[in-house]
Amino acid sequence: MSIYLDYNASTPINQQVLNKMISVYQNNYGNPDSRTHDFGQNSLMLLNNARSQVASLLGITPSEVIFTSGATESNNTILQGLRTYGLTHKKKHIITSTIEHKAILEVVKHLRENDGFDIDYIKPNLTGRINADEVISKIRKDTLLVTIMHANNETGVIQPVKEIGDFVSTTDAFFHIDATQSCGKLVEEIKALKYDALSLSAHKFYGPQGIGALILRKKNYRRIPVKPILFGGGQEFGIRPGTTPVALAVGLGEASRLAENNYKTNYSKMLKTQQTLLALLNDSKIEYLINGTLKNIMPNTLNICFKGIPSEALMLSSKQFCSVSNGSACTSHDYRPSYVLTSMGLPVEQIESSIRMSWGCIDDNNDLELSFNELLNAAKKLAF
Ligand code: PMP
Repeated sequence: MSIYLDYNASTPINQQVLNKMISVYQNNYGNPDSRTHDFGQNSLMLLNNARSQVASLLGITPSEVIFTSGATESNNTILQGLRTYGLTHKKKHIITSTIEHKAILEVVKHLRENDGFDIDYIKPNLTGRINADEVISKIRKDTLLVTIMHANNETGVIQPVKEIGDFVSTTDAFFHIDATQSCGKLVEEIKALKYDALSLSAHKFYGPQGIGALILRKKNYRRIPVKPILFGGGQEFGIRPGTTPVALAVGLGEASRLAENNYKTNYSKMLKTQQTLLALLNDSKIEYLINGTLKNIMPNTLNICFKGIPSEALMLSSKQFCSVSNGSACTSHDYRPSYVLTSMGLPVEQIESSIRMSWGCIDDNNDLELSFNELLNAAKKLAF
């Protein structure tokens, strides 16, 4: 059986999370906004509990948690939701990076093309890291928002959001972090960050697909001036209308609780896997390069260039042993070389020989080693 090594695309759901969700679907079908009966009130209690669990994972207060359908919606809400404020306050400058997820890049492009927003794109260096000072140097009087991801989904490289956040907090600009890949994994690190808004998605840390959150911090008890991008009821503090899906929220809450309780053990397990894979890679004598930097990397990701071996051929010939990818799942329908690796300045041949492996903390390491060895054998065969 093929071992799943594409956790950055989506993780399997944790059994405990699933059990809680099934129980909600079976027993708590009330609408949390129904105030006239216990069915509704019970659902509201479950929703409040889930909100508190997400807040606890991040070290914030429950009223700062807005449930959304996932990080794509969270990113859209912060960017499009600040549009009116930007236009009316003549703050039309946004700073972002070239390695953000499409759920950021496509929205800022839309704001630029439709509303004349001025976008500064920061490029990473060869190791996939952007420079905090460069971001800071671009901040102007009319800067509305700085939006930078915490960990990159393709390389796992961790960006200097601590330094950026510390500085942006001293200015009038808002700071948003796309923490989709780090949430539930870099638990203490996120608690120490300064930001105004943050996006997360449950299915990246053993929760269900279809739910996430936009965190909107409160400055002096005032929420940042985000307007809803959908119109309807007043759910989710007036920011996100529509019945909040209780079972999904309970799933995200339980995934958050588990992530908070187990993060040290989980981190060590993922790091051990990373070290094992690197050791196997070194022992194999195959020529390789790591795209990124091992100094600032998520413990669950490796983006590896197998020199001279086309990634498509390698993935095909090792498909029955392990399921990896050569880029983000969200862009895999087009076969252009990864824009993340391209903007790092890597040569096309290197990009076309690169695969991304990402794992979690629930796999059996022996199975993983066996399947990785099969991938290395396939690479050796293709090399000759
Ligand atoms: N941002 C990043 C960094 C991601 O990795 C992803 C998922 N690949 C998203 C945003 C979008 O998340 P979702 O698909 O859950 O909306």
